[in-house]
Amino acid sequence: MNKKLHPETLAATGLGWIDPETDAMAAPLRPSTSFLRDPTDLDRTGRMFTRDDNPTFAQPEALINALEGGAGCLLFASGMAAITAVFQRLAPGDHVILPKLVYSGLRDWMNTHGLRWGLQVTYVDACTAAGVGAAIQQGKTKVIWLETPSNPTWAITDIAEVSAVAHAAGALVAIDNTVATPILTRPFEHGADIILHSCSKYMNGHGDLIGGAVVVAEGHEDVLVDIQNIRNEYGGVLGSFEAWLLLRGMRTLAVRVKTASTSALRIAQFLDGCDLVDQVLYAGLETHPNHNVAARQMQGGFGGMLSFRVKGGEDAAKLIASEVQVFRQAISFGSTESVIEHRAGMEKPDSPTPRDMLRVSVGLENTDDLIADLRQAIDAVQREISTGHRNA
Ligand code: PLP
Repeated sequence: MNKKLHPETLAATGLGWIDPETDAMAAPLRPSTSFLRDPTDLDRTGRMFTRDDNPTFAQPEALINALEGGAGCLLFASGMAAITAVFQRLAPGDHVILPKLVYSGLRDWMNTHGLRWGLQVTYVDACTAAGVGAAIQQGKTKVIWLETPSNPTWAITDIAEVSAVAHAAGALVAIDNTVATPILTRPFEHGADIILHSCSKYMNGHGDLIGGAVVVAEGHEDVLVDIQNIRNEYGGVLGSFEAWLLLRGMRTLAVRVKTASTSALRIAQFLDGCDLVDQVLYAGLETHPNHNVAARQMQGGFGGMLSFRVKGGEDAAKLIASEVQVFRQAISFGSTESVIEHRAGMEKPDSPTPRDMLRVSVGLENTDDLIADLRQAIDAVQREISTGHRNA
């Protein structure tokens, strides 16, 4: 299918693939682990074993690759399996740069296994060209890791600015695009080299699979070969059923992401007007320090994730999360239902995540219902703070 088609069309049609054997429009599921070899047993160019590759991966990998505009994509058993593959191709002594506030699972992996592997790590407060430039070690820095918006405070990084600094130093820019998705941001167009996804979130979008993906930009086919070897040899490969389910989920990616983004902006505006709310962390708000960068870099919305800090601190924040009725108090995000989470409580005790902060994943419910739910929870906590009593 024509790669110039818009992302909405690519996703909705699943690239327009038709099963050549049956003319089926929905992709077949191929659970086989083994594939017949050439009668001479010499033809090793085809598929052999599913830890290496499976036909059910082909369509979702091609779709993610087309959405991101990459040179190739590989599916993994989870977002973490995809992320760590990028670091596992580095050598002991190589230096990497990460934002201080980043997905906590990556920070935890880096501070244990990454360091044990021999990687040298610098965490930067500000993921700006100046912040990253100051942390670069000429000749040693191999990967600069970005998330934009970054979990869980949804800070925005100017990808083009940081990529220019990284490339001048010979480093690769890897971006976790889980939150923006290629519907809102296409990092390769801004100079990134590698894109990561936790497909467990928006890509699948229905909260019923764990998966990940690595995509590389044109010119980095060598990186893809390394990553494919790592996937095969470490074995972090996606199941064929999950690959099939992922393709099914991605067909509605565009409509889900846009609906969640529109709703999230209204919710952010509502929270911004609440007395009990100290700060709303959402780049769609014009008062956000990086609103202009986000508006330039993101098309069609600012995403479905936001956080807010609560006057009254951790206790008041946790009370709000316990009072909601439509939102679910749960981990993860990017599914059809809205969830709220006291994020610092989910992370290690030394986490830099503010303790007075709640993280919100806006789903596909009616926005008025979501705002009414937050309003009643915030009002209940406000009453409790002013009277000192908790309603039964
Ligand atoms: N990247 C981001 C931004 C995440 O928030 C997460 C998980 O929450 C991951 C990656 C890890 O993905 P997975 O849970 O699929 O391993």
